[in-house]
Amino acid sequence: MNILVLNCGSSSVKYQMIEAESRKTLTRGSVERIGMSAATLSNLRHDGDEIRIAGEIVDHTQAIEYILAVLLSKNHGVISDRGQIHAVGHRVVHGGESFSGSVLLTDDVIKILRENIELAPLHNPHNLRGIAACDVSLPGIPQVGVFDTAFHVKMPKRAYLYGIPYSLYTQYKIRRYGFHGSSHRYVAERASTLLSRPPEDLRLITCHLGNGCSMAAVDRGSSVDTSMGFTPLEGLLMGTRSGDIDASVILYVMGKEGLTLGEATTLLNKHSGLQGISGISSDMREIVSEMKNGDKKATYAFEVFTYRIKKYIGAYAAAMGGVDGVVFTGGIGENSTDVRSACCSNMEFLGIAVDESRNSSGEKEKFISPEGARTPVLVIPTNEELVIAIDTMRIVSEKGSVSAR
Ligand code: ADP
Repeated sequence: MNILVLNCGSSSVKYQMIEAESRKTLTRGSVERIGMSAATLSNLRHDGDEIRIAGEIVDHTQAIEYILAVLLSKNHGVISDRGQIHAVGHRVVHGGESFSGSVLLTDDVIKILRENIELAPLHNPHNLRGIAACDVSLPGIPQVGVFDTAFHVKMPKRAYLYGIPYSLYTQYKIRRYGFHGSSHRYVAERASTLLSRPPEDLRLITCHLGNGCSMAAVDRGSSVDTSMGFTPLEGLLMGTRSGDIDASVILYVMGKEGLTLGEATTLLNKHSGLQGISGISSDMREIVSEMKNGDKKATYAFEVFTYRIKKYIGAYAAAMGGVDGVVFTGGIGENSTDVRSACCSNMEFLGIAVDESRNSSGEKEKFISPEGARTPVLVIPTNEELVIAIDTMRIVSEKGSVSAR
């Protein structure tokens, strides 16, 4: 079954066409700068054929029409008819409390997504735009929503309630939701395969370290706690996001510097994190390189970043009553030997250690703990698109291939 996987952002649409049974990506690409000058579409087919088109792409509907034109193109495409797209799987950032799994996008579901816009004003409107665009360009083809929040929805109350009046939870749905759910789920399932142990036997700590960073405590297959919260701002230090902070700090700075709400939000989301501490970059490669050149602030940024991950490993081991494996994924987790080493240093009390020759080997998916370690440490490249494709195939097969709208 060919699944078109779409990740619609404010000015971009990332896509992959995946043959779900064989798990093969037929082609992948992205449209960037939608609604701006000099928009581009880049496409890379499985056989290495690559194209880049520049032009004017005014909205998501037009972006999806461009993508379809490339998929259908005689020279660069992978299908000869729109009917060869059997379903569309959308990454949807926020499902609120309504969805604990992926769902067919019916009118009722779309209505709930609209109601959740307030919870994810930066993401959900674009996801909805992508869904509406597919209604126009691929009428009758079923669409499925796969939510970043779904994997975490069943966390216990003690993990998701904040220490604020309970009425704020009931009235405004303020609670920890958590994000990166498809990634945490994928690497936890993959770890269970690599460890040859069923998920029900495993207490795993998964570390998704990319531009956005989050960790999850995956207890016997379920996420029981995660570091991102009501929004993707909480928890670990990130490229430009502060992560955990005393809420009073921001109130204090707002008072001192006369910041508006919008300016304070920008300060925490865009000017903090690695970028904010180092004053150099939000990119871990540059932080590590400047740290090795002796730059003090880059060193502080690196140390805050890795120290916080260590604290969460300890916290999640305590939450689950032990840990049977730690998994690193995301751009930093998959590539930075320095970050992985630092996060796992002095952790022998939990059976966690890194074998440096394994850590620096060229393999992408690997164990980096010493042979026979009590707590295996793994690197697993994430594949959120595959999770979306497989969920979409499952849901469409269960419901029959008729669109609900
Ligand atoms: P996103 O969260 O946007 O999907 P990625 O998962 O691609 O981002 O992660 C981006 C991060 O990965 C950047 O901070 C980048 O510096 C980091 N990264 C990529 N390659 C390396 C590397 N070889 N060493 C250290 N960090 C890396």
